[in-house]
Amino acid sequence: MKPPPAAELNAGGVAPGRGDTAARGAELRQNLAEVRERMRRACEAAGRAPDEITLIAVTKFFPVQDAVLLAGAGVADLGESRDQEASAKVAEFGGLSKAKVRWHFIGRLQSNKAKSVARYADVVHSVDRLELAKALDNGVRRAEREPLAVLVQLSLDADPERGGSASAELERLADEVAGLDSLRLAGVMAIAPLDVEADVAFGQLEEVAERVRASHPEARMISAGMSNDLEAAVRHGATHVRIGTALLGRRATPFR
Ligand SMILES: *Cc1c(COP(=O)(O)O)cnc(C)c1O
Repeated sequence: MKPPPAAELNAGGVAPGRGDTAARGAELRQNLAEVRERMRRACEAAGRAPDEITLIAVTKFFPVQDAVLLAGAGVADLGESRDQEASAKVAEFGGLSKAKVRWHFIGRLQSNKAKSVARYADVVHSVDRLELAKALDNGVRRAEREPLAVLVQLSLDADPERGGSASAELERLADEVAGLDSLRLAGVMAIAPLDVEADVAFGQLEEVAERVRASHPEARMISAGMSNDLEAAVRHGATHVRIGTALLGRRATPFR
């Protein structure tokens, strides 16, 4: 038997059988209800309205069928972090689902992949250097599409694996991005480091977001919060949370 394409493998390398779709659908709906309930409670505690916050389901490492099921359950925002997987999944998704979804590219991005990402992404969260912004700007122009919404990614530690730009440089990067014709500066993003309290990390992001917004009032998005720190993100003004594990289950590696 031919092995299934990589996009159909989950973290364990197992392709779910077609007959399991109903069970998987029920599992995803259950997980979705639990995540939405966590978001609702976090909003209540923070005195925020639940509709201020958009849930992005991070489907990386999981098959396109999971993305289809989540979209069918009402999720309108899907996140991916690797171009090869994402470009295949977005194309397959279009053939399987009529749902209108927005695709968020949230992973580290090499400039040579920018042209590809610029063709299918609705939002890119991980712009952390001018070279990448210019490559995306070029890609958007070549794709002859509307301007691409981008977030500048703040680095809260020195871990290159997570990406991001140091806070001292982030405002300048935001200004530079705002000056590119085919990009639209939409806000800021960060990943909380493992060894820093999420409240401290997201508090820093919130401050940087305010400074960026002072010169770019339209840059209102704050992308923060994952499966185990979404409550802290909601406390610190997140407008978008990126949830993988709590919705889809465990992956072999956290960030790839
Ligand atoms: C994988 C990933 C997520 C989702 O993380 P979980 O802990 O599985 O919810 C969020 N943001 C980024 C940038 C990611 O790479």
